Amino acid sequence: MSAVPAPATGATVYAEVVLPLATARVYTYQVPEALVPEARPGLRVEVQFGRKKRYTGVIYRLHQLTPGHRTKPILSVIDLEPIVTEQQLQLWAWVADYYCCTLGEVMHAALPANFKLSSETRITLGPLFHDDYTQLDDKEYLIAEALTIQHELSLDEVQGILQQKTIYPVIRRLLDQKIIYLKEDLQEKYQPKVVSCVRLTPAYAEDQAKLAAAFDRIERSEHQTNVLLEYIQLARQQPYVRRADLTKRTGADYGAIQALVKKEIFETYDREISRLAGYEEDTIAAAQLAEQQTRALAEIRGHFAEKKTVLLHGVTGSGKTRVYTELMQETIAAGGQVLYLLPEIALTAQIVGRLQLVLGDEVAIYHSRMSNNERVELWKQIMAGKKAVVGPRSALFLPFQNLRLVIVDEEHDPSYKQREPNPRYNGRDVAVFLGHQFGADVLLGTATPSLESHHNALTGKYARVTMPERFGGIQLPEVVLANVREEMQQRKLQSHFTSTLIEELKSCLGRGEQAILFQNRRGYAPTYRCQTCDWHSECVNCDISLTYHKFHNRLKCHYCGYTAGLPEICPACGNHQLKLQGYGTEKIEDELKIYLPDAKIGRMDLDTVRGKTGLARIINEFEMGDLDILVGTQMVTKGLDFERVGVVGVINADQLLQFPDFRAGERGFHLITQVSGRAGRKHRRGRVVIQAMNPGHPVLMEILNEDMPGFYARELAERKAYFYPPFARLIQVQLRHKKPQSLETATKTFDLWLREALGAWVHGPAAPYVGRVRNYYLMDFLIKIDRDPGKLRHAKEVLRTAADKLLAEPGLSSTRVVIDVDP
Ligand code: ADP
Ligand code: ZN
Ligand code: ZN
Repeated sequence: MSAVPAPATGATVYAEVVLPLATARVYTYQVPEALVPEARPGLRVEVQFGRKKRYTGVIYRLHQLTPGHRTKPILSVIDLEPIVTEQQLQLWAWVADYYCCTLGEVMHAALPANFKLSSETRITLGPLFHDDYTQLDDKEYLIAEALTIQHELSLDEVQGILQQKTIYPVIRRLLDQKIIYLKEDLQEKYQPKVVSCVRLTPAYAEDQAKLAAAFDRIERSEHQTNVLLEYIQLARQQPYVRRADLTKRTGADYGAIQALVKKEIFETYDREISRLAGYEEDTIAAAQLAEQQTRALAEIRGHFAEKKTVLLHGVTGSGKTRVYTELMQETIAAGGQVLYLLPEIALTAQIVGRLQLVLGDEVAIYHSRMSNNERVELWKQIMAGKKAVVGPRSALFLPFQNLRLVIVDEEHDPSYKQREPNPRYNGRDVAVFLGHQFGADVLLGTATPSLESHHNALTGKYARVTMPERFGGIQLPEVVLANVREEMQQRKLQSHFTSTLIEELKSCLGRGEQAILFQNRRGYAPTYRCQTCDWHSECVNCDISLTYHKFHNRLKCHYCGYTAGLPEICPACGNHQLKLQGYGTEKIEDELKIYLPDAKIGRMDLDTVRGKTGLARIINEFEMGDLDILVGTQMVTKGLDFERVGVVGVINADQLLQFPDFRAGERGFHLITQVSGRAGRKHRRGRVVIQAMNPGHPVLMEILNEDMPGFYARELAERKAYFYPPFARLIQVQLRHKKPQSLETATKTFDLWLREALGAWVHGPAAPYVGRVRNYYLMDFLIKIDRDPGKLRHAKEVLRTAADKLLAEPGLSSTRVVIDVDP
């Protein structure tokens, strides 16, 4: 990046600055002469916006074309070096353009909070500041002193204290030195989770002969011998061995370990595990590649050489991770950077641990639960050339220098799409663009390709590499359908469980194996209804019924968080016969205890994994065998690898397949196949029980018959017939307004304009399934277009213009127009 050449004869330099706002694209400011030598694209600057507000923005471009309006000056340049690269600015621009939003919105999503200071930002002293003022200059001193008295200040207040025009550069320095923190950062106190681990004392660790002698010393204790043997096994596979692991696997108690510690063969130590940003210092050699993996790697390399994006289609348990680590190692060894994307929820200690085992501290973890300081740290590391990063879709926005490989794991996962707020981007698709930007290799991996990627492979746009076998030759699980309707008629159904499922669970637990039950709805019961007049409890803010949560004994809205108590009499008719209807994970967990009283049952859904360590703790408990059955929402389908899962049950398959959405079949297929993949991964063939009212559904038949090609062929034919992706492109436009009348007017007006400009491409308007959310009434339009870039551009242009025009209409200025490209 280069500064603008010094202006000839005092021509004014202007900067286009991206601000974290949704109102326009970029704002032009004048660069005061004194700042011209410093100003460069990618640097943060302090600017005034409106009459009072101060923001930090990022310089997008410098030029000398006098704008047609008055401009304010930039107040200060905050950074010494650009915090955003030229490549990133281009990526932002592409995302803003493709997904129809503003650069400011993309910037807001891309930058860590510490980089986005504004008048309202609140700061406080960091925990590392111990009244040591010696390092501080005068201004820094003043701020630190004020904070010791006031505890917390907004930047506005700091401004008042310092009595000077620009304060952001000072704030930046204090943040960099960790003397001050953003307030929000210190609010969520981070509690490290510690586990007890065991290792050999140095004397035994370093001397094979001595270790052999150790076995003689403990010859008489079978438990101790087993523990030591098991330890040696585990230590070969893992960089550290948990104490609980050892006792669990050997059936020995802590006494055996204690005895070994006493004999100074073992020592125990604590280690932090939940902190995903932590590194394993020790790595172990990667496992030898299986034949299938070697072949897949050769094919992938061949396609990469031809600059093709590769779709790696490997069944669950085929060993894709090992293929990824091999490619990652290669890339790192050649000096390139790697980005490995995962759906947020799959980003567990489990997968992270497996990667770090092989790649060590070359790989950094980007995670939504990181603190702001950790994010900035990582941002700087990537800028400085850190070799690899694993993260969710937001990791796409890191400042890569020499990106050579992009891996998108579980590429089919719908959570790659950001639904709310702007930019509503699909992480997988942006990853492909990012790869192109750098000329990097791109690998999309999954056991169940999305229809889009499948189609791209069919048409030759992507190359397909397959891994059809499970690692170790284990068979894919056997699928059985349990007919709920039939069992209901035969009175065999117990609560929500078929006899088939209960029997399978009993024999599974009897064999000492574990089970996973999938129910895609959380809470206890989704409806509370009057038996007399059909009244049911609805959210006051949304048109959706409230879900009963037994634990809190309250009704809750899953859209806006509103909660209410349970009325004892019907508010509509005064009757007492009110009933809970339907069921979610909480009820499944509850009722299962009746039929399997001895089983230890755990639950994994949004309600139980809240907080920094919730998810890790549940996964850990299940892994350790502290739980026999894990009941969960779709979280349980995502990329977890457990060794002893004998049975997977899908409680209600119908519900998965009947969404009013053209992707319902695909989603259902992905979810059921993915959750099935958790069964029988290591030692033996697993079983999957799918409960359904309507077991004849084509998707269920295809799953039962292991007919994946049939699924893709049928689904593609339907998409083609009804003109949906991958054959069409979709743009969804949602109008939102707090007043139904205004929404109606807005809809009519908008409809007219769209039809005029886009004709038959326009479908709708139609109210969505939930027609009001958070007090906004909603109306949807769907634009369907050929896969023709020109037409897409035209449609977006029309939509942008229409959206702006609508807001300028009298009485409609508070309409919200949400444009979602590739919904
Ligand atoms: P996928 O991601 O394709 O579902 P995984 O990568 O989770 O499959 O691999 C399935 C199992 O096989 C894992 O438990 C993994 O440790 C094991 N595995 C895969 N490749 C190897 C290998 N080359 N050597 C030993 N174990 C392997
Ligand atoms: Zn009633
Ligand atoms: Zn609500």
